[in-house]
Amino acid sequence: MTVPESPQAALATANRILAREGVLDAFGHVSVRHPTDPTRFYLARSLAPELVTEADILEFDLASQPVGPCDVALYSERVIHGGIYQVRPDVNAICHHHAPAVLPFCLADLTLRVVTQLGATIGKQVPLWDQRTEFGATNHLVTRADEAASLARCLGTNGIVLMKRHGATVVGSSLRELAFRSIYSCRDAELQLRARSYGPIDSFTDDEIDLAGKFPEATLSRAWNYWCARLPSGA
Ligand code: MN
Repeated sequence: MTVPESPQAALATANRILAREGVLDAFGHVSVRHPTDPTRFYLARSLAPELVTEADILEFDLASQPVGPCDVALYSERVIHGGIYQVRPDVNAICHHHAPAVLPFCLADLTLRVVTQLGATIGKQVPLWDQRTEFGATNHLVTRADEAASLARCLGTNGIVLMKRHGATVVGSSLRELAFRSIYSCRDAELQLRARSYGPIDSFTDDEIDLAGKFPEATLSRAWNYWCARLPSGA
């Protein structure tokens, strides 16, 4: 390809990949920071991710408000994205999801660990945020700036934050790293739950996560290209 892909086109592809691979369903969303203006990010209008095309992508400021006139429905939880971009300059892509693979770790007293080499993308720590702790009874949607700021604080410098009784929010330095972390964290979650039914499970040590968890661009692109090939359009 001689013409570089636009961030909107790449984001539309990421939406469809993450839906196709079981991270997103009718709900959940993925965003990417503007490539030249760090105070802006791209996110689709309110739409099931598998249906997102480039034409559905809108630009937002870090207050998660659309830039310019907007007469379409927006994701109610879009503050998650602006809230994290505000405090994590290293983060350029974010996915919020409710994947069945990770929900058991948000419901039961289970710790999400690294159990395979690709799963090392999870990182050494996976914090668990409980909206109830700070905000009492809510509808378990993150729709306010103070709720998003609390979630971002809990995420800290990690790659994933689990959300009690809700789902997860994953961050990456690029859309490709984000897709890799989102998908392989779900794979590792599925594997460790299945393995637990056969007995105690073993997991990577912190040293092993340090050694295994550095994935070069070539690895991220190899996975991205595979996931693109699995899209119905082959795009
Ligand atoms: Mn949600």
